[in-house]
Amino acid sequence: MPVKNRFAELSDEITAWRRDFHTHPELRFEETRTAGLVADRLKAFGCDEIVEGFGKTGVVAVIRGRKNGSGRTIGFRADMDALPIEEATGLPYASENPGKMHACGHDGHTSMLLGAARYLAETRNFDGTVVLCFQPAEEGGGGAKAMLDDGLMERFSIDEIYGMHNWPGIEAGQFAVLEGPQMSAAQAFTITVKGTGGHGAMPHLTVDTSLVASHIVVAMQSVVARAVNPLKSAVISLCGLRSDTDIFNVIPDTVTIKGTLRYFNKDVRVVIGERMDAIIKHTAEAYGARASLEFLGDGVPPTVNDVQAARYATAAAKAVTGRETVDIDPVMPAEDFSQMLEARPGAYVFIGNGDSADLHNPHYNFNDDILPVGCSFFAELAESRMPIAD
Ligand SMILES: [Zn+2]
Ligand SMILES: [Zn+2]
Repeated sequence: MPVKNRFAELSDEITAWRRDFHTHPELRFEETRTAGLVADRLKAFGCDEIVEGFGKTGVVAVIRGRKNGSGRTIGFRADMDALPIEEATGLPYASENPGKMHACGHDGHTSMLLGAARYLAETRNFDGTVVLCFQPAEEGGGGAKAMLDDGLMERFSIDEIYGMHNWPGIEAGQFAVLEGPQMSAAQAFTITVKGTGGHGAMPHLTVDTSLVASHIVVAMQSVVARAVNPLKSAVISLCGLRSDTDIFNVIPDTVTIKGTLRYFNKDVRVVIGERMDAIIKHTAEAYGARASLEFLGDGVPPTVNDVQAARYATAAAKAVTGRETVDIDPVMPAEDFSQMLEARPGAYVFIGNGDSADLHNPHYNFNDDILPVGCSFFAELAESRMPIAD
């Protein structure tokens, strides 16, 4: 694989960083050890500016090229946080923090961007500025928003931004980049059904919330099937169903249903919201109960790559691997990098993790073989997007 030679030399060291992060996973906005190591290394590499505590526990570093005739500033982002999952890999460097695990490969993402930082600070073979964004709390914590709220784009004058996620099931070290939507929007919600609980033997004296909730679960399946244009995509999954009783002969007063909504298109989101609301309200009414729908926060928007930025990223990927990128469809998981892409043009790319366990699985592990490839991608993109004219 024609990765940059420097990364082949550095690969043992970058692998050691990755495994150390893996052993010491930290959850959202608690990434102080990780961020401290990141900042120490960035200082040792000779970055021009390093800001710690950005977006709570994030780190930002600036590397200036040998020239700055272009006046362009490109941002690269990696996420640092782990998940509340008990690791089951049995690896010699498995998590030492009970109930916490790097099950999404953010240990690898952080290490790849650090590796790229070392190379870029050594060589500075580009005409412009690179800003490295080590983001906290990607896993549902609002880390991207925290960095944006701290003025990431304005303070560092970022013109465009790129990020990378490993992807199990894509051949190790191959890239997949889409022009347009790459990942879905995500919106969590809770449905609350209220009735009148009572004795299971005398249901005629109750308003049975279990029955009402069951009808809502079934009717909800009609929303995507019958209200969304079949050429557009959406998912409604009702994932958690809980009543306020768990014994055999008590009809519950209240049942709550937790779920997630996924979509790419804002119009689809509006239609789904209206249909969900109507079905929930009127189904409950038909049975003499009351029900409400609550969307939790704003969710995250779809991850939409700028067409031109996706082409730059694809060209850099091809230059690194010597191969075409892999054809994929957009995926329904979501990513808060989408908020950075709403602020600036850019692209989010997948790098194949090979035949590994899936993301968020207790057996998952980041594939160390792809570290030099990911580092090379960032370095190549900086050099090709901001070339030094001779
Ligand atoms: Zn994840
Ligand atoms: Zn992730």
